Amino acid sequence: MKTIIEPFRIKSVEPIRITTVEERRELVRRAGYNLFSLHSDDVMIDLLTDSGTSAMSAAQWSGIMSGDESYAGSPSYYRFESAVRELMPFKHVIPTHQGRAAEKILFTIAAGQGMKVPSNTHFDTTRANVEMSGAEAVDLVIPEGKDPANEHPFKGNMDTDALDQLLKSERDRIPIVMLTITNNTGGGQPVSMENIRAVRTVCDRHAVPLFFDACRFAENAYFIKTREKGYAEKSVKEIVQELFSYADGMTMSAKKDALVNIGGWLALNDDTWAEQARNMLILTEGFPTYGGLAGRDLDAIAVGLREIVEEDYLRYRIASMQYLGKALTNMGVPIVKPVGGHAVYIDARSLLPHIPPLQYPGQSLAVGLYEEGGIRACEIGTVMFGRRPDGTEEPAALDLVRLAVPRRVYTQSHVDYVIECIENLYRRKDALPGYRIVEQPRFLRHFTARFEPIG
Ligand SMILES: *Cc1c(COP(=O)(O)O)cnc(C)c1O
Repeated sequence: MKTIIEPFRIKSVEPIRITTVEERRELVRRAGYNLFSLHSDDVMIDLLTDSGTSAMSAAQWSGIMSGDESYAGSPSYYRFESAVRELMPFKHVIPTHQGRAAEKILFTIAAGQGMKVPSNTHFDTTRANVEMSGAEAVDLVIPEGKDPANEHPFKGNMDTDALDQLLKSERDRIPIVMLTITNNTGGGQPVSMENIRAVRTVCDRHAVPLFFDACRFAENAYFIKTREKGYAEKSVKEIVQELFSYADGMTMSAKKDALVNIGGWLALNDDTWAEQARNMLILTEGFPTYGGLAGRDLDAIAVGLREIVEEDYLRYRIASMQYLGKALTNMGVPIVKPVGGHAVYIDARSLLPHIPPLQYPGQSLAVGLYEEGGIRACEIGTVMFGRRPDGTEEPAALDLVRLAVPRRVYTQSHVDYVIECIENLYRRKDALPGYRIVEQPRFLRHFTARFEPIG
């Protein structure tokens, strides 16, 4: 069958307010052409992020009702802990309000001044928390991972020779090795089991603990099942269990592959680090059986973890992403290849060669998409990364627009609608204007800057 069928029915709906092109032109003009400044009810298809935007199932909502809000020793915690341990058999499971809180605790304990923390690619909050501790965040993804056109099936892999070299020369400064699965910053690209095993071997050789930043572990496991030799007959759950058997611990944002709107955790085997982590948790998040969460949130995660490894779900999820990617490729829109697990990235600089990088082709495309169809995407390019600390500008490595797809929220006809809007926009792409920034803060300007079209 070529029809992609959502493996769920819809019981509760949220209306989408249908707007016109004229209304949207006015709304985005008033927002200073910054899509973060829009009210989200003026957006028809919101592809800004897949984080915290999942639709929960009926079983999760009933889990919410059975949540126990006891301050200490809640049964919700024990249900959460056993659901985590069923997939990720770590000795200590410490709940936090989201992924970055787990990172903050981990790097406060493990990193610090003068240290270096290697990863395939650090996600931005991970990098920021490593740096906040005084350490340096080092990215060691394989060279194929940096080339948007390369079709390598596991572009998230770590360059294990580079890791080995770094550990040989600077073992004393490296307290921990991280691996991001899937590699979000690199386009949602997976890491192979073979590479995970090789990273483990290097870590063993130098006696360094290995931690996963595991936000999209289920999507990664599904890619292993479908792309790596020897895994086709294994269940996703078995693959997930094998994957985590190679790690000493993990940080997690439950806002991704735990199918909830808030939550996270830090899990690890080391007793000393776990005790320090719980002490910090009490200072910054809460008592160790609830972390920064309500009991009901822990129950929603427990159920979400069982649902995320269901193969019908993952088959539909990945097929739907690939369907979108293929349609764009067929109409001549350049995208980052292969399509990752949670998003399609359009190469706006190649698509709009008439707009120089310092006139923000990614911003132009993102604004165009909103005006055309009420679709909100995210510029990941010169607006986000182009400002140097001294206030001058340089083009980012790439000017991308990310279409991140929330889990279980949109149907296949929504995806078809997105494709049709991009088709319409493609026809008038040469008329899309460049932009200039008229107002911007010193840091993280993409959230609040105001723009105007040039000409
Ligand atoms: C989202 C994300 C985080 C941070 O998690 P939050 O829940 O947003 O704090 C860390 N690493 C990766 C790879 C992520 O995608």
